[in-house]
Amino acid sequence: MNSQAATGIRPLAGILSEQIPGAPREAGLLDRNRLLTTLISNLVGMIYRCRLDENWTMEFVSDGCFELTGYAPEELLLNARGNYEQITHPDDRARVRRAILDALARNSQYDVEYRLLHCDGCLRWVWERGVGVMNRAGEPEAIEGFIQDITQRHAADDALRETERRYRSIFEHATEGIFQTTPDGRYINANPALASIYGYATPAELIADLSDIQHQLYVDPERRREFVRLMRQYGYARNFESHVFRRDGSIFWISENARAVRDENGEVQFYEGTVVEITERKRYQEELEYQASHDSLTGLPNRALLVDRLKQTIHAARRDGRVVAVAFVDLDHFKLINDSLGHHVGDRLLLDMAERLRACVRSQDTVARQGGDEFVLILADQPDEAGVTMLIRRVLEAVAQPWAAEHGEYSISCSIGVSLFPRDGKGAEALLKCADLAMFKAKDIGRNTFQFFTPELNGAMIDRLEVANGLRRGLERNEFLLHYQPRVDLASGRIVGAEALIRWQRPDQALTPPGQFIPVAEETGLIVPIGAWALREACAQNIAWQAMGLPPIVVSVNLSPIQFRRAGLVAEVANTLRETGLEARWLELELTESFIMQDAERINQAMAGLKALGVEIAVDDFGTGYSSLSYLKRFPVDRLKIDKSFVQDVNHDPDDAAIARAIISLGHSLNLRVVAEGVETEAQLEFMRAHGCDEIQGYFFSRPVLATEFEAMLLRQRDDYPFGG
Ligand code: C2E
Ligand code: MG
Ligand code: MG
Repeated sequence: MNSQAATGIRPLAGILSEQIPGAPREAGLLDRNRLLTTLISNLVGMIYRCRLDENWTMEFVSDGCFELTGYAPEELLLNARGNYEQITHPDDRARVRRAILDALARNSQYDVEYRLLHCDGCLRWVWERGVGVMNRAGEPEAIEGFIQDITQRHAADDALRETERRYRSIFEHATEGIFQTTPDGRYINANPALASIYGYATPAELIADLSDIQHQLYVDPERRREFVRLMRQYGYARNFESHVFRRDGSIFWISENARAVRDENGEVQFYEGTVVEITERKRYQEELEYQASHDSLTGLPNRALLVDRLKQTIHAARRDGRVVAVAFVDLDHFKLINDSLGHHVGDRLLLDMAERLRACVRSQDTVARQGGDEFVLILADQPDEAGVTMLIRRVLEAVAQPWAAEHGEYSISCSIGVSLFPRDGKGAEALLKCADLAMFKAKDIGRNTFQFFTPELNGAMIDRLEVANGLRRGLERNEFLLHYQPRVDLASGRIVGAEALIRWQRPDQALTPPGQFIPVAEETGLIVPIGAWALREACAQNIAWQAMGLPPIVVSVNLSPIQFRRAGLVAEVANTLRETGLEARWLELELTESFIMQDAERINQAMAGLKALGVEIAVDDFGTGYSSLSYLKRFPVDRLKIDKSFVQDVNHDPDDAAIARAIISLGHSLNLRVVAEGVETEAQLEFMRAHGCDEIQGYFFSRPVLATEFEAMLLRQRDDYPFGG
């Protein structure tokens, strides 16, 4: 026996010549030979003995040779057709030889894998194992070993390695953090992305550092408890969002998807899942939520959030038996400022007023912007009405402080309506409505004041709210119409003009006169589109009469101060004239006197612009507005209309008679024509004629009538005075 016995592989020759102990020598030897021969020739793989020479001369190859190499054993035996090295893949030859020689030098077995060129031309992976055989001198003279085809195993290993490599790659390169954790909160495994999300350089650092996930990671440790609960109850958690700490202590948002991994007994072994950072998404979401609940200009809560807050406040007040006040704050004449000074000034005013309001209330109160120039205050925890009154007075004062704009100081005021919980209503909407109604009342009694809601308010004010909504709808549905009232020249007795007076015809309702909706239209700004409609309609009607060959007359259209202060008025009038085809001289615009006195300089400019178009300008309701003579002299006015309140009693009230006479002579001294409005009787007419008034308008001659009736009057006039015009 030689030394190789110790390695477990023994030389073939030795085995072949060995005896089975205790068996008869001849029979034993025979059996053993037969057994070995059977074994060797049936082995899958090739047993060989090979000289340690240049050409690996084969001394023995088993029958497996054919299966392994495609060559018959005889072809390889004694290198009959070539040597074994030739069918070894050229790239592997040196390595194989080295492995064998190294092993021999170490006196140990060799074990090597390499590629073999099968006779069929294909490459096979083989595994060879063997030992050196020594001569008597103790030098290696041959090798004996076994070669097995491992192509399939190799392919399977490759596939496995490849799969493993791919999963590794996913794990290593995923942008999502991937983890495995124990139920008691330690990391078993983490990928680089997870490490980086939590602020660690490597997964190993993270695993080493985070040993108590619940407290080290979650800002609110309850979240981890909830996570574990979900795992226990459902075995998974989806889009589980939490606030967590980064290593540096900063806080951010993550979303986890995870499942519980159980062993065959159903025991939870660990959790595994993914983590993504969602801070940016959260921020965006919060931003959207903020935008949806706040006014973009002032940053105050909007209507939606207001209702929410009010509900909460009411809820708390109900529990504690406290009073809540809801105050509806509406700036007075905001539309005028916004329209005349421009939107950017209007915006600044709203911002400043929002700030003033905020400064008046405590932190637990709410200031919301309801829209436009309307703000709502929720005053929580009020002792009683007297306390609320004090607070509201403070608000009125704060708003009334002079307000500086680019062009000077303005005094702004507001009207406030207040409702109280629980006295005026139980729910948020009811309280808001009551405060709204009370605010309308405050506007009515003169602005810059406040009103508490009273039940009597309900009826009248609800009408007013309905009017505002109805007007909007009326515009869309074309529910407005114009009546025309003739203006008659006293000297000739002829119709020289018509005043266009608007009416509102709602379906199934009586005709609504302008006094019942113009104020609301002005308050809501709807006067602008309504006024534009009236202007166009009147011009179109006038040109239609002219086209019918009727004697041309001037049509007068009333302008609201709101329209007048808008920057685009002159252009609007010019457009309307151009588009309807009416010459400017057949249009007159009426402005009420009280308004003209408010902002003389700007109004003068606008009037000059209109005058330049060629239209006429009349001062309406003259005598009620205390105009100073100097203004009248400067303004390019054509006509004064004596207010009908002086005309009414002109024959009985000496004061009214004196005022009427004064207006007539004042007008004439300024070269203006004077019209008496509201002339109902012959006596009034005679008074006017006697004092040199130029024209009259009133029921005495005709009520305001439909365009068709007015047309009939013009026709009669044409036929009565064939040469007139
Ligand atoms: P106003 O411009 O002073 O119009 C004259 C008003 O006196 C009209 O009332 C007319 O119907 C009425 N009236 C005419 N003759 C007599 C009379 O002999 N006796 C009496 N008691 N009244 C007479 P109406 O149509 O109700 O209009 C009221 C006001 O509504 C107008 O006063 C005007 O300021 C405003 N208005 C009418 N149409 C428009 C419009 O299209 N735009 C604007 N902004 N305001 C308009
Ligand atoms: Mg008028
Ligand atoms: Mg008038």
